[in-house]
Amino acid sequence: MLGLMQNWPLLCHRIIDHAATFHGERKVITRSIEGPIHTTNYADIRARALKVAQRLEKDGIKLGDRVATLAWNTWRHLEAWYGILGIGAVYHTVNPRLFPEQIAWIINHAGDRVMITDLTFVPLLEKIADKLSTIERYIVLTDAAHMPKTTLKNAVAYEDWIGEVDGDFAWKTFDENTAAGMCYTSGTTGHPKGVVYSHRSNVLHAFMAAMPDCKGLSSRDVVLPVVPLFHANGWSLAFSTPMVGATMVMPGAKLDGPSIYELLNTYKVSFTAAVPTVWLMLLHDLEKTGGKLPHLKRVVIGGSACPRAMTKTFQDKYDVEVVHAWGMTEMSPLGSLCTMKPEYAALTGEARLDVEMKQGHPPFGVEMKITDDSGKPLPWDGKTFGRLKVRGPAVARSYYKVEGDPVFEKDGWFDTGDVATMDRYGYMQITDRAKDVIKSGGEWISSIDLENLAVGHPKVAEAAVIGVSHPKWDERPLLVIVLKKGESTTKEDILGFMQGKIAKWWMPDDVVFVDEIPHTATGKIQKLTLRQQFKDYRLPTEQAAE
Ligand code: ADP
Repeated sequence: MLGLMQNWPLLCHRIIDHAATFHGERKVITRSIEGPIHTTNYADIRARALKVAQRLEKDGIKLGDRVATLAWNTWRHLEAWYGILGIGAVYHTVNPRLFPEQIAWIINHAGDRVMITDLTFVPLLEKIADKLSTIERYIVLTDAAHMPKTTLKNAVAYEDWIGEVDGDFAWKTFDENTAAGMCYTSGTTGHPKGVVYSHRSNVLHAFMAAMPDCKGLSSRDVVLPVVPLFHANGWSLAFSTPMVGATMVMPGAKLDGPSIYELLNTYKVSFTAAVPTVWLMLLHDLEKTGGKLPHLKRVVIGGSACPRAMTKTFQDKYDVEVVHAWGMTEMSPLGSLCTMKPEYAALTGEARLDVEMKQGHPPFGVEMKITDDSGKPLPWDGKTFGRLKVRGPAVARSYYKVEGDPVFEKDGWFDTGDVATMDRYGYMQITDRAKDVIKSGGEWISSIDLENLAVGHPKVAEAAVIGVSHPKWDERPLLVIVLKKGESTTKEDILGFMQGKIAKWWMPDDVVFVDEIPHTATGKIQKLTLRQQFKDYRLPTEQAAE
């Protein structure tokens, strides 16, 4: 017997229809690439997205064709997304922080037909355009007055381009399993891999993301998506924000501390989300200026581990709740968020912070387990760590044009490549990436735990821990540190600070001070580069062991 309910395909553009109909006047405010603040609303975004759809169709773009966007978070980018989605074409967000060769590689791999880009990236594209054989035309997200002279093929200013149609257009309908978007993983090992989201997975993921124990969004919120749309599907903010009808504030190209601070306070932002490096800049700025955050209620921090000191500062000094989150491009990307279940809700002080350092519990729609190398499930005791595996309707089942990648296991589980513990209440904590964990004498040392501890030192701005080969122990931890501007200290001081807070055998064998730690295109510490940099490093304990 079948249910007798309507067949209403879960299509992404229905989200902007809903926002335009029931929250039509709600503002979408952007710091434009050209400079001034621009204000529009969901009704206008939808009307112009329809023009994008109509105009793309006029250019011959059809169901399944890929349209690249190399752009910051702006209202025009949002319109472009929904316009692409509305004809069943596939948005492909390209991360401008990748190396130019990598950018060219993923555009070719995806076979993008159109490139929609910001003024910022015109020079970059001009340099690689001869390698982009599939791109038929470039649309620059600006108006005629700001359109630069460019050698890009068939280049046109976005406003002129959509100005050629009247917007009298209806969305296409199609199966909800149709591809909606693409995003490539940053490819810290080998070539980047393409993840292909479907309309259904994006809509289900947006429902999930908005729930109270996730981002907890409502129409009363003012949302500042600092995380760019090109970073792991923008953490769903381009979907979950209009879905609930919240006001949206888009930062454009300026993600520095003062620029973000200005938006937070001027527009009374209540919710925001980004990787730790962004918040490091903001907190540093606030420390200097003495600024306050009276309107901000919640900040989601993920992409890499949120340092304890950061959570503490946001909560104790600025009265902003930190929600630590974990996810992956392959998971649309949300996997877990650290909101307080009743079992932990009454905790305060350091005990609460201990829980907040965990990456949290999954929402409905994400199944999770930890296993040993043979696939045997491990206990949820908060101590035993193993391979973290997930399953769900917004989790990838394959990479684009890659057959049989072993990370997609036969029984439907995806091996995340992360190593984690689970506690009795279902809170997951990342111990490391499988390839970053330090293997010392057959035991594992978590590089993340050591980094978190080291950045708690008042003079430390950033810390990274890598395994360096050791004749006796196989690998031992080396702590690499960037000090805060103008500070100086010694190895002994840093190690003294860490002493007693971790097991003795976890103590780094050495500390080196550097001016800069390399980061990936999504703001994560680039351990691979760091390991290469220190591959010939001789630990003092190594000499002692000889
Ligand atoms: P990529 O894998 O291409 O670097 P993603 O943005 O998909 O880009 O990164 C996913 C990975 O980032 C996770 O597998 C995990 O290792 C790491 N990560 C994400 N959030 C956290 C977090 N809160 N704490 C620790 N690691 C995290």
